[in-house]
Amino acid sequence: MRGHDETRLRERIATLGQSLFDRGLTMGSSGNISVRLEDGGWLMTPTNACLGRLDPSRIARLDRDGRWQGGDKPTKEHFLHMAMYAERPRSEAIVHLHSTHSVAVSCLPDIDPCDCIPPLTAYYVMRVGRLPLVPYHLPGDPALGDAVRGLAGRHSAVLLANHGPVVAGKSLEAAVYATEELEETAKLYLLLHGRNPRALTPEQVAELEARFPRD
Ligand SMILES: [Zn+2]
Repeated sequence: MRGHDETRLRERIATLGQSLFDRGLTMGSSGNISVRLEDGGWLMTPTNACLGRLDPSRIARLDRDGRWQGGDKPTKEHFLHMAMYAERPRSEAIVHLHSTHSVAVSCLPDIDPCDCIPPLTAYYVMRVGRLPLVPYHLPGDPALGDAVRGLAGRHSAVLLANHGPVVAGKSLEAAVYATEELEETAKLYLLLHGRNPRALTPEQVAELEARFPRD
């Protein structure tokens, strides 16, 4: 049964990776996806792999301690995923992209580092919530993992400055949909920038948070 589930998850990662790539949400060999397995291990997309052309059988498998067990070598950004999972025991999947509009927002000088994008729509609040900014680090710097870990307990999504979002979800689909919602809301925010948009009120946000908890 477990093997069957793992095969299905590998295929889902490849299908959703291709969907993100085909719509321009990820490009080149950037971006990575991981899923928690029932035995406590993980599936993770390989280093230097294009999400648009993943071979399900070559997706990396890690054991419950995060050690590489099989498949191609996992992404060099695996520590971002592990930092997030360590603080979020109910999260089952994580997506990290260098998606254009989210990265653009992460480069703006005047965003609130505690909450990068205002609550423009109900679905953004329901799927992403408050989005903190993680200060810029050199790619691969272990201190970046520590910075993500410091925020992940309170946030299902974080935005890495001048880099991109890391988004957790209670399923692979939930993590992908939340990432898409974040990217589209970043686009909306940029469209509205300088026009003093009317965001949802704190009362409206609180009502959504109470009725639609994320994970
Ligand atoms: Zn990255």
